Amino acid sequence: MTELGRKQLLIGGEWRDAEGATTMPVVNPATEEVVAEVASASPGDVDAAVAAARAAMDGAWGQMSGRDRGRLLWKLGERMLERIDEISRLETLHNGKPIRESRHVEVPMAIECLQYFAGWADKLEGETIPVGARAHVYTRREPLGVVAAIVPWNFPLLLAMWKVAPALAAGNAVILKPASQTPLTALALGEAAIEVGFPPGTLNVVTGSGSTAGQAIVEHPGISKVAFTGDTSTGKGIMRTAAETLKQVTLELGGKSPNIVFADADLEAAVRGATVGIFYGKGEVCAAGSRLFVDRAVKDEFLDKLAARSKKMVAGDPMDPTTRLGAIASKSQLERVLDYVQVAKSQGATLLAGGERTDIGTGKGYFMQPTVFADVTPEMTIAREEIFGPVLATLEFGDVDDAIARANDSIYGLAAGIWTRDIAKAHYVASKLQAGTVWINTYNVYDVSVPFGGYKQSGFGREMGRLALDGYTQNKSVWVDLS
Ligand code: NAD
Repeated sequence: MTELGRKQLLIGGEWRDAEGATTMPVVNPATEEVVAEVASASPGDVDAAVAAARAAMDGAWGQMSGRDRGRLLWKLGERMLERIDEISRLETLHNGKPIRESRHVEVPMAIECLQYFAGWADKLEGETIPVGARAHVYTRREPLGVVAAIVPWNFPLLLAMWKVAPALAAGNAVILKPASQTPLTALALGEAAIEVGFPPGTLNVVTGSGSTAGQAIVEHPGISKVAFTGDTSTGKGIMRTAAETLKQVTLELGGKSPNIVFADADLEAAVRGATVGIFYGKGEVCAAGSRLFVDRAVKDEFLDKLAARSKKMVAGDPMDPTTRLGAIASKSQLERVLDYVQVAKSQGATLLAGGERTDIGTGKGYFMQPTVFADVTPEMTIAREEIFGPVLATLEFGDVDDAIARANDSIYGLAAGIWTRDIAKAHYVASKLQAGTVWINTYNVYDVSVPFGGYKQSGFGREMGRLALDGYTQNKSVWVDLS
């Protein structure tokens, strides 16, 4: 028996096995042990979840006032807060991230997200439109219906909440499919939703593989929208499949975000920002500042400081509250990242720090040293492809326009950072960068009230903030003849 035993699907307010009692293992990447067996949903299970969600829309949930939906969302946040230690531990257990990140950053942010959107539930107003004396026209903001949220393994609960909270606030019923590697906190969210009294079928949690459960969701004609975060190639496939039923799609995809250090920056702060930008969350962060552009004038000094700081970061037991660098989320991801290190070396990049698998004295776990490469040129693979691990590619630039051109030379456009003391330059560069988020003299900061999402092949649609609600409502214009 595993530590957490067997976990079932949440469909229509009830826990049930997948068809055929099929399961999949959940591995703790820090110990390589199987910690749970989780139901692996079939297309038939997805059908059942869609039917349950539809029934919720046609029943108690669909009738509920916005204010009452908001109350339930708020209560769900309170319940999650009561369980925050347990849920944070689960997040670290299946993902390998340091417990300090789960407990003090990501799970609290997920709870804030619920409570922020709780406040919006009774404020989704339409408008009246003055078309003349002979008609009265008003608009209604209505839910889309059954909405699916498909999320990856890097921020399992938080990225689920960015979708589930606005979707529920707007009155949709939700089917949440977590990544197969990290289903535990989505299941805890489902449990808490039942505990606080969400009507059956309002939030269904369907665990399973992307190729079976995920694919069945995207194909399903009873689902109105898929909100997806994950790999760019998966996102393209989802968009193609969704076209068959003309589902709405929002996509939060990969990134290769530039972090630009000008010579006039506070270099100590920029070194800290560059390391947080790439090593927070082990670099498994869609917005990671994985392309660092350093002004030629300060390059040598900056890279010395950066390498020294990176070498001081040591991987540790993710459950230890002092650990700042945890385990890579899976064996296959570790292998992928190490392959990129080899490719970088073979293409002539200079290794300044790290580059190796490491261990924490247990001989187990998928740990990796924080890795920094110098002398990277724009055409090298590590300057172009998303690695999704603790590997930083550093490049140089000459003047402001050169920095902008190099930063924008990517298929991606999720985020960017700028380090300078010159206010005019900072805002000028921010206006020119092709990215959905630009951080000036900071990096990797988020707030639930601030929209987040991509330009270019980093996707479309915005999560968080008021804008997120647009992705979960549709407008109805009503004409009344007054003649
Ligand atoms: P992935 O695309 O392999 O998987 C993401 C989710 O999609 C999982 O739940 C998976 O089971 C499911 N899935 C896979 N194939 C599917 C299919 N054919 N149909 C439906 N669902 C399917 O991505 P991943 O490896 O889990 O996550 C890492 C990627 O996510 C990185 O590329 C990263 O940049 C990106 N990411 C982006 C953001 C963002 O906000 N833009 C945030 C986090 C991660």
